[in-house]
Amino acid sequence: MDSCAACHKPLIVELDDSDSDIEMDMEDGGVSSRSAAVSGRNTAPDDVELKCGCHFHWQCLLEGYMMNECPSCGADITTNMTPSPTSPTTPQQQILVHLRNEGGLQPNLDILPILTEELYLRTYPEERRARAFLEFCREGDLGAIIGVLNDDPDFDDEGDGSGGGPGATGAGPAEYPRDILLYRDPLGNGQTGLHAAIAGGHREVAMLLLLLASDADLAQFPAALLDEARAIGMGRDKRPAGSADIRTLRDEEGRTAEDLARATGGMWTDWVERGILGV
Ligand SMILES: [Zn+2]
Ligand SMILES: [Zn+2]
Repeated sequence: MDSCAACHKPLIVELDDSDSDIEMDMEDGGVSSRSAAVSGRNTAPDDVELKCGCHFHWQCLLEGYMMNECPSCGADITTNMTPSPTSPTTPQQQILVHLRNEGGLQPNLDILPILTEELYLRTYPEERRARAFLEFCREGDLGAIIGVLNDDPDFDDEGDGSGGGPGATGAGPAEYPRDILLYRDPLGNGQTGLHAAIAGGHREVAMLLLLLASDADLAQFPAALLDEARAIGMGRDKRPAGSADIRTLRDEEGRTAEDLARATGGMWTDWVERGILGV
C-alpha cells in the first residue's frame, strides 16, 4: 500500500468509537458481509491522490497545501476548465483528485474550493467563526447560526480561547459581534449572510438577520417568529450599537441583498414587493 508523501505513514485512519457503533448497528441490521470484512480492525482508507501521482492523508494535504502546488513534489496540481460561455474571460481552475475514505472512492473530485478556504483560514484564523456563520446562512442551519452568535461552547472554532467553556449560559453576549453579523465574504464576492440566505432560499435565516442587523419594521414580522426569537433571548436589543443596516451592504458587483432577491425572484418576489429588504 502507498504511504502518505508528508508523514510517510500508511494511508488509513483509525476510526473512533462512534464509528464502531455504526458497524455494530449494521451487523444488527443484517449487513453481515461488510461487518465481517471490517471486524477487528477499526480503520478506513484516508487517501487523496493528486494529479502528480503523490498520495496524502486528507489532513496532511490540508496542512501542507500551498497555492496550486503539490506539497511533496512541487508540481502544479491545477487543471484548467474550458471557459464557460457566461464568463469566457475568467479562467476556471480545478484541483481534481481521487479521494478514498470511509465513504468509498470519489474519482475526479474538485477540492480547490476546500483548499482555498483552508489556506485563507490559515492566514486569517480569526475569521473562522465568521466564515462558519456565513456557511450556516447559506445552508439555512438556524440552530448553528444561533450557536455561533451565542458563542456556544459546542461550536468548535478550534480554540481562540474566548469560547464559553463549561458553565456558559445560553443567553449569549449582551450584543452580537458586528464582525460576524455583518461579515462580508472575501472569497465569495463580498456577500453578506443576508445575500447568502437569499441565494440559498432560507426565509427564516433572512428574517433573523433582519431582526438582529437591520432597521426593518418589526410589524412586518410574523408575531409567532418574534415570540420564538424572544424566548431564546434574540431580539433587536442584541444588535451591535451604531452598526450598519445589513440591507445597505453591497457585494463586489454592487448588489444589495434586495437586488439579489429581485434577480432571484420566486419565493422572494413577495418580500421585494412589500419592501422588506429595501431601505
Ligand atoms: Zn500523512
Ligand atoms: Zn506530487
